[in-house]
Formats: sequence, C-alpha cells, structure tokens
Amino acid sequence: VSDTAPRRVAVFGATGSIGASALDVIARHPDRYRASVLAAGRQVEALVALCVQHRPDHAVIADDTLFAALRDGLRDAGLPTRAHAGAAALDQLAASAECDTLVAAIVGAAGLSSTLAAATAGKRILLANKESLVLAGELLMRQAAGAGAEIIPIDSEHSAIFQCLRSRDASLEGAGVRRILLTASGGPFRGRSRAELGQVTPAQAVAHPKWSMGPKISVDSATLMNKGLEVIEAHHLFGAPGERIEVLVHPQSLVHSLVEFVDGSTLAQMGLPDMRTTLAVGLGWPQRIESGVGGLDLLTQGRLDFEAPDNDAFPCLGLAWQAMAAGGTAPAILNAANEVAVSAFLQGKVAFLAIPALVANALSTLSVESADTLAVLLAADQRARLITQAAIDHA
Ligand code: NAD
Ligand code: MG
Repeated sequence: VSDTAPRRVAVFGATGSIGASALDVIARHPDRYRASVLAAGRQVEALVALCVQHRPDHAVIADDTLFAALRDGLRDAGLPTRAHAGAAALDQLAASAECDTLVAAIVGAAGLSSTLAAATAGKRILLANKESLVLAGELLMRQAAGAGAEIIPIDSEHSAIFQCLRSRDASLEGAGVRRILLTASGGPFRGRSRAELGQVTPAQAVAHPKWSMGPKISVDSATLMNKGLEVIEAHHLFGAPGERIEVLVHPQSLVHSLVEFVDGSTLAQMGLPDMRTTLAVGLGWPQRIESGVGGLDLLTQGRLDFEAPDNDAFPCLGLAWQAMAAGGTAPAILNAANEVAVSAFLQGKVAFLAIPALVANALSTLSVESADTLAVLLAADQRARLITQAAIDHA
C-alpha cells in the first residue's frame, strides 16, 4: 500500500479495447491509481456506464452534439462526474491538474491533439495511439522531451523493446543495440497469396487469430499496415534508423519483440497476448504490478515459429517503409490515406486490396514536404484524406 494519494489517470478512448484493459488494471489497484477523467468519441451510453463503475471526476464526449446526452445520463445516474464535450475539452483536461497520467487510446489521428497537449504539460503518457507518432513523431517526441513528459509505449512490441532496453532514455548506441526485431502475428490472412485476398470480407479481416482489438487496428493487422505503422513508431520512440529495424512474422504472438546487442546477445520479452500486461508495465514502471494476466506455460504452447513477411501479398508494409524513408509529410499522408481506406473497407465500399492501392495513390500523387510544423503535417493529413475519399467516390 502506498502512503501517497493515488495517481490520477485520464483514460482517453475509455470505451475502446485498450480503454477497457486500462480500466481493468486500474481497478485492481485502488490504492495506487484512480481513473479521474474518462473520454470517448460518440458512445455516450457506454461512457456513462463506465462512469457508474469508475466514478471519475470528469467525463468527455468528443462529439459535441452529444453533450446534453452525456450531462443528462450522468445526472440520471446520480453521479457527481462533470460532463464536457468537444476536442478542446479533451486537450484542456489532458493538460490539466485533473490527471498525472494519460492513457492515450483514441484511435487514429484524432488522438494527436490531446496527446500533444499532455506532452506539453509534462505528463506521463501511456501511448497506445500510434497514429500520432506516425503523423507527428518528431514534433511529439521533441515536445515531450522539452517538457519532461514520459512517453511509455502501449503497443505490445514497443513495450517489449522498452522492457528489454529497461528504459527509453539511453540512445541505441549508448545502450549497445545492434538491431530491433519487431514481431508480427501475420494477421488472419497469413499464408494467403495476393490473388486469394481479393474477396476477403470485413468480418474475416477483423477476426484476428491472437488479439482482440478495435476494428481499425484489426484491419491494419490484416493488411500488415499495423506493422508498417509500428516500424515508424519504433523509429520515433527509440531513435532507431530504418536499417536497425527488422520485421519478423511470429504466428504464436508470444514473443512480443526482441533487441539484439553488439555483443551478440538477444533479449526477447514474452507473455500471453493480453494488453493488460502492457498497461500494467506503463502504469507501474519502473515497478511491476499485478495485471490479471497469467503466466506463460511454454509446455502447453509447444513451439515458437518465425518467418519472413510476404511483401507481395501485403504491400502496406513496404509502403510504410517507403514513407518512413521519404520522411517529411510522407508518413502523415500514409496514415491519413490508410484511415480513410480502412473506414471505407469496413463500410463495404471498397475491397481489401483497395487499401494498399489507395495508400499508394495518395503517396504518389501528393508531393512530400518537410514537416517542420504541426500546421504543415495537418494540411498533408487533410489533403491525403480528400484525395483518398475522392478516389473512393469516383471508383
Ligand atoms: P477501439 O476502436 O476499440 O477504441 C477507440 C476509442 O477511441 C473509443 O473509445 C472511441 O470512442 C474513441 N474515439 C474514436 N474517435 C474519437 C475521437 N474523434 N475523439 C475522441 N475519442 C475517439 O480501438 P482500440 O483497439 O482500443 O485502439 C485504440 C488505439 O490503441 C489505436 O491507436 C490502436 O492502434 C492502439 N493499439 C491498440 C491495441 C489493442 O490491442 N486494441 C494494441 C496496440 C495499439
Ligand atoms: Mg502492436
């Protein structure tokens, strides 16, 4: 039992998959953590239900047309929780004294602004929203370093690397790192050829063999764009140049990633595929806390396999490498085009293989600029959304 007041944790994306895992771990440690702010995009009823359970001081619904619904829902439940709405309220609360830690688990570029606000305010950020690093990695890392904000990755691979390095503080050179090996499950379509991917449906794409996740990241896992985004994420988080990062398909999803050192030693982090472990690492770091996840029984699991990714069937991974090498606004274009394409795929408007085609189209159509300011990055994000939507509408 700690002798100080519990750390106040804001959970943004509370109604999502990461949000649920975060709240599960927080609720196991009432003496150490308290969910003080809960935020969601549009799911008012689910947000009110979480408020009944976790009794935060503040609740935010990003869609401001839903303010009255949230306010009335909280009142009808007899809660003292204050209602807020809109993106500006997210930024304000993320930076405010109402939280010490932010679980940044909004999906997509929509999560950037509040993550930047928390970074500028010097918070501990448990960063699940990898899209914000892909869109504005340099800016976000610079802002965090300048304000003394602590960014702890909430992505199983990056948490694995973080644990193998035992921090993010040392440079890769200083830590004696030769290579970072990111593992990938391969997703639900591992082993299929490009031709076999033509007819796959959204329901098949979101049925991930190992992880239970939100719809967008599930599709990203099926196209391998998720691994592409993660390569860019690792580049920013650990200051790793592209030539020091490798991707390895590991279908069992038990080795979450590996770090190879200059002396020939390779460290791996292992565990069951359950994000509560990752969230417990982030909440407790540098201490270890209970997460509700059991240990790994290697005798039951039996074997660990590794294979190279199939770049022909899954061109998104190559597109991400290409965008990272181009630098500037290219990753922002990649990310925005992918968000629009995945949303259209989930709505049944385009085929699975249109996702890489639409992303490639945006990257080849839009010119890459140097990404010095947030305004330049957001403008590139907007242009990529517009031309991708136009390509979908005119197909
Ligand atoms: P999800 O779809 O389950 O949840 C998304 C959450 O974001 C919901 O609470 C939703 O209300 C909220 N949201 C959506 N749009 C918003 C907006 N405009 N403003 C505010 N809130 C908004 O997604 P998820 O699987 O929990 O993933 C969340 C993030 O974590 C993603 O960036 C994903 O890549 C990353 N991540 C997830 C996992 C996982 O296991 N689920 C693993 C690693 C990384
Ligand atoms: Mg991951």
